Amino acid sequence: MVKWDTHTHSQFCKHGSGEETALMVEKAIDLGFTRYSISEHAPLPESFIPDPARRSEFTLLSSEVDDYFSHIKELKKIYGNRIEILSGLEIDYLSGFEQYTFEFIKTYQNDLDDLIISLHCIDGKGGLRSVDYTPDDFKDGLLNYYGSINTVYSIYWETVKKMLDMDFGFSKMKRIGHIGLINKFSNKFPWVSEWMNDVGFFENIFSQVQSNGWTLEFNAAGMTKGYNGNAYLTEPMLYWCKKMNIDILYGSDSHGTEMVGMYYDNYLELTG
Ligand SMILES: [Zn+2]
Ligand SMILES: [Zn+2]
Repeated sequence: MVKWDTHTHSQFCKHGSGEETALMVEKAIDLGFTRYSISEHAPLPESFIPDPARRSEFTLLSSEVDDYFSHIKELKKIYGNRIEILSGLEIDYLSGFEQYTFEFIKTYQNDLDDLIISLHCIDGKGGLRSVDYTPDDFKDGLLNYYGSINTVYSIYWETVKKMLDMDFGFSKMKRIGHIGLINKFSNKFPWVSEWMNDVGFFENIFSQVQSNGWTLEFNAAGMTKGYNGNAYLTEPMLYWCKKMNIDILYGSDSHGTEMVGMYYDNYLELTG
């Protein structure tokens, strides 16, 4: 059986532990993983965050992409007989920047074995705002701007639907990262429970996931205490995944060695 971590970061990440990617790969080997995707945050458009130092806190810079892919090639050479390493990226779906994203993927498609599309930002105060940065930022950029958590929630899921219909021009792998990321601060800003648990609300969204051929992610970072503890897949979402045969793959979203392989047993329990 393939034991696959589909979502990990690297030594290029400025908001990670700063540990060498090789140490993370070695830990995955020790834990019996047979496939390992390296999926660093892909560069944001310059116009989105003009200051390169600030942009670089979140993602690779465009000037680092070639070095990043060479780094993965090196790791493949060193570890390739012990674990299958996939060369990937985690790409932000940024509403309004679609052309940038399509062109970026087209430019690097030969370097990529794998790709995760993630939604971290939705329209809010002053433009696109993060749904997962800090509770204060969430409050400032989204909650206070829209005036109700219900509106924030529905804007998020509308944006998910736009993303699910997008053709990103990459056919090797179609995977959405942490589809329920909007729930990250749900302990702090509780959603109206009827929405969160309304199975009917998710039917349309998950039939779109299925008909457009996306796979989803069990995101181990979402299991971490203090967040919502459900890997960003709530009961109604899991219900439709099962019913519609949507594949859920394990992703540790490791930003250092500590998280590699975490909650894999929970993943097996949930999906087995
Ligand atoms: Zn990150
Ligand atoms: Zn990630």
